[in-house]
Amino acid sequence: MASLRLLIRLCVAAMLLALVAGRPAAAQDQVLPSFAPSCHAATPVDRAAETMIARAAWTCADNSWRSDVPAVWLRFEAQEWKGELAPRQFFSRIARFQSITFYAVDAGGNMRSVAYNETDGRPFAEGPVFQLPLPEITAQTRMLLVRIEAPHSVPLLTEARITHDKTKAEWRQISLVLLAFVMGMLVLPLLFDISFYVVLRERFILVHAAMVGAMMNYVLFAGGLVSAFTTLPVALMAVMGPLSYAIGGGLSALFFASFLERGAQSRLMRRITIATGFFTIALPGFFALQLDATQAFDDRAYFIACIPYIFVITIAVVEAILRGSRSARFVAVAWTPIIIASTERLLRGLGWYVGPQSLDQMLYVAIGIEVVVISLAIADRFLALRRERDEALTEARLLEHISSRDSLTGLMNRRAVEARFDDLLAQGFDTFALVDLDRFKAINDLHGHQVGDAALIACAEAIRAGTDRDSIAVRLGGEEFVVLLRGERTLERAEALRQAIPMRIAADVPGLELPVTASMGVIVLAEAGRHTMGFAEFYARADALMYDAKASGRNRLAYERLTVFNTAPKPQQRDAQRSAS
Ligand code: GH3
Ligand code: MG
Ligand code: MG
Repeated sequence: MASLRLLIRLCVAAMLLALVAGRPAAAQDQVLPSFAPSCHAATPVDRAAETMIARAAWTCADNSWRSDVPAVWLRFEAQEWKGELAPRQFFSRIARFQSITFYAVDAGGNMRSVAYNETDGRPFAEGPVFQLPLPEITAQTRMLLVRIEAPHSVPLLTEARITHDKTKAEWRQISLVLLAFVMGMLVLPLLFDISFYVVLRERFILVHAAMVGAMMNYVLFAGGLVSAFTTLPVALMAVMGPLSYAIGGGLSALFFASFLERGAQSRLMRRITIATGFFTIALPGFFALQLDATQAFDDRAYFIACIPYIFVITIAVVEAILRGSRSARFVAVAWTPIIIASTERLLRGLGWYVGPQSLDQMLYVAIGIEVVVISLAIADRFLALRRERDEALTEARLLEHISSRDSLTGLMNRRAVEARFDDLLAQGFDTFALVDLDRFKAINDLHGHQVGDAALIACAEAIRAGTDRDSIAVRLGGEEFVVLLRGERTLERAEALRQAIPMRIAADVPGLELPVTASMGVIVLAEAGRHTMGFAEFYARADALMYDAKASGRNRLAYERLTVFNTAPKPQQRDAQRSAS
């Protein structure tokens, strides 16, 4: 419980810090402006720059962006940067593309161009962004044209910017501090998962850990955090972000299906949830690869293939809550922010509207919240499962106890001693003393069964009082008992017990017309640890001795010493002695 409280506190702290870090950075000493394209155009792949300058259909409004076309042109106007330092760097959101060509067009008709491939792009740590150097922009330059061939995502186009020095540009995609905090929020649940798994061994914990791992990858790659540590190829960064999101999303559905309490989902819904999990890993996962062959549609297809996930998960959570699932309520709290943020991202990704990139931060905070709340849910479930197990264990122990005891006297019963008999012999209990009360039927006949019961209880007490860690008392049934003994002088100790019985019965059950004595048949085995005899054989032999004792006048002990090495042990000494009393 203490660790739970610690987790909650850490989460609250992380979220507060995330909120602070998520605010726009304070004004720096020298902030350079960055410039967005004023117009764009989708064209066939072979359209020349001259054609674009002379007569082309440019779209100069903020809408109708498309990435599912062979090539997209962007136009940056010189009057935008008039009076500022000339732009030298192009940068945009990471996505796959084939090539990017820049044309610096001068007033006199001069044109300087540079062409780059995807591999030339350099990611840098201001978010999921990469940069390319521009051709020289002079005072004569009147526009900069950018031709992006085979783009795989709309934000690669809408978020393209040019600036003089990107390290001083006001434009930044995301707060790395925020990402670092979200990463911190994800590490803790991963540690919790490991410790929960050690105790619980439930599969849903492993699925959750895998999901957290995928979300960490998402934050590292889609957030661009990884660029703070190393420079990776644009293609790898472009694929890893959406791929991790698809895998994380798919795993979250699988997690949901395995995490809920038994019966919290209908069988159909459970199947649909699991199928949606695999579907989300497979299909959006495939489109995340942004292969050349799928360029014409993978951007949209990725987002469209995520739609079933959002629908199914929403319905599945609602269904489980209606069926009374406590875990599903945690999941609802955890997933509401992420579903809202994902839906916003989906609409923006589909190009329904062009929102500010800072909206992405919502998704990262939502991921942090999701993972932390789910960890609380796992902790909650952990406690519930442990409670269930403890209760089951206590009940099992109680049943075991009840089933191994005789209900009248509380002594161990025959079932229990038979089950443990081999162990007891191995522990050195080498003396088997069968006890039978003499003429007990007469007690019942004279005084009734209740008095008979009281006498049996008194007899059990006499035996119990005489037993210790080297002797075990058992009621076999009726007025028959067994005492197993080990250690020194077992025969004498058995005889002392036998003699204690009449006194105890007389004391506990006053007014009996006859004294209740006991007879004993005792087997003493040499080297009990190497025995070959079972309980039934001991019992049969002791019963035969009992018969001798009864026949020789009752209230006495008859015994036999056996060695173990004879397969059919012969009596070494057989004797019935009269009681001393
Ligand atoms: P013996 O000296 O030959 O052993 O004579 P006995 O009367 O003890 O012999 P027997 O084994 O025939 O009778 C045992 C009696 O014990 C029969 C039954 O009335 C009585 N008995 C067995 N179980 C219980 C019990 O749980 N409560 C009571 N009150 N009597 C019992
Ligand atoms: Mg008897
Ligand atoms: Mg009997």
